[in-house]
Amino acid sequence: MNTLVLKFGGTSVKDASAMQSVFSIINNDKSKIVVSSACSGITDALLSLLSFAADKQTNLMYEKLEFIDNHHRKVIEDLFKTSDIYNQVTARYNELFNELQKYIESIHFLNEKTQKSIDKVVSYGEIFSTTILHYYCISQGLPSIWLDARKFMKTDSNFTAANLQFDLSKSELQHQLIENNFNEIRLAITQGFIGSDSQNTTTTLGRGGSDYSAALIGKMINADEIQIWTDVDGILSADPRIVQDAHTIPQMEFNEVRQLAFFGAKVLHPSTLLPAIEQGIPIKVLNTFNPKNQGTTIVTTIQADSSKLNSVVYLQTKRIDFTLASVDNFAAKSAEILEYFADSKVYFSNIIPEGMSVWVDAKFNPYQVITDANTFQEFTQINLIGITGKNIDNNLIDLINKLLIHKDASIIFISNRKNLVIIEQIGDKDIELLQKINDLIKQK
Ligand code: ASP
Ligand code: MG
Repeated sequence: MNTLVLKFGGTSVKDASAMQSVFSIINNDKSKIVVSSACSGITDALLSLLSFAADKQTNLMYEKLEFIDNHHRKVIEDLFKTSDIYNQVTARYNELFNELQKYIESIHFLNEKTQKSIDKVVSYGEIFSTTILHYYCISQGLPSIWLDARKFMKTDSNFTAANLQFDLSKSELQHQLIENNFNEIRLAITQGFIGSDSQNTTTTLGRGGSDYSAALIGKMINADEIQIWTDVDGILSADPRIVQDAHTIPQMEFNEVRQLAFFGAKVLHPSTLLPAIEQGIPIKVLNTFNPKNQGTTIVTTIQADSSKLNSVVYLQTKRIDFTLASVDNFAAKSAEILEYFADSKVYFSNIIPEGMSVWVDAKFNPYQVITDANTFQEFTQINLIGITGKNIDNNLIDLINKLLIHKDASIIFISNRKNLVIIEQIGDKDIELLQKINDLIKQK
């Protein structure tokens, strides 16, 4: 069924003008399922609304309700003021909002917050945003189906972090699409993040779950492509706050996205994309507010022998060096050492017979967890610079080496999958070095 899945994040639907941008992106005759988040800030507002209700903070509760109501009413006013369907949208919105208000008042009365009630309350964020978007398409002459994700995203009852039952969900979705005549209308708008269990009680997939919903839906319909629409130009070659003229990476492998996320780059949560990646569905990251930008395409593998540098990431760490008294049992000893770091984020570790080094978060305090102070030495102001790419072969390593001459920096790791090089740099953040690496990426 040549269908696309387009997912819009909270900032993409934050207000009327953002929704208009979304509309111009989806206003074409391509067959598509649109998955949307709540308007940005609304999920958090709903969560505090629920807490105020359960804690009987009555005034604060009504203030939050009003805030949430005003927000959506304003979007509706701005979008539909002059539209024929203004009354229809308002009536539907009122119905939904009253449902929420009644539910919140019952929580207030019961004085109790449960995991189940969290999911029920936060689900309104996505229900409101998708209802508005759906009616907006109709008001602009673009026929649309509003699909209730609770009817097909079937999960277990693990509220706030529910697990999807894939096969069941897939057949329920097919049902919904047929029942609503999707083949003819070719545009369905549905909610990310939410679903329901076997009792049809609302569940959610966990905070930020809309990307995951989109990947799952993409897999269910075997979509040609999944587009993640956000507010940046795809995935950038470097942090634009540090490096001048960081550029959008046109295409990268999933494995690299993982490396980037591991190094703390604020990109997508790679695990949420897995359902689509496993199915070989390409994922595009695009900017709702700059749709002409090509964005970044993420694929399982790029069929190419040539080498390519894609991005540079930077991380401040601390290095803990251990001395191993003898080479005997060095695997067992290093396993013992790693145990000290079980509760901390380890960015890298290096084991050689005479010793072991562990790179951890700069705030890590070794004296709190390592009992024998004689066995280690701590080094602060250690930066890790990761360079990702494809086939980062010796040729490129030479080039990188050139960059590092006269620098307090050295290569400490070259991944055997040829997609990651890690450089250790000692001292203050070396912006010049990062800039040089980004220039090198640009040339390649
Ligand atoms: N609205 C939900 C959240 O803020 C889901 C999402 O945006 O992905 O967590
Ligand atoms: Mg959100």
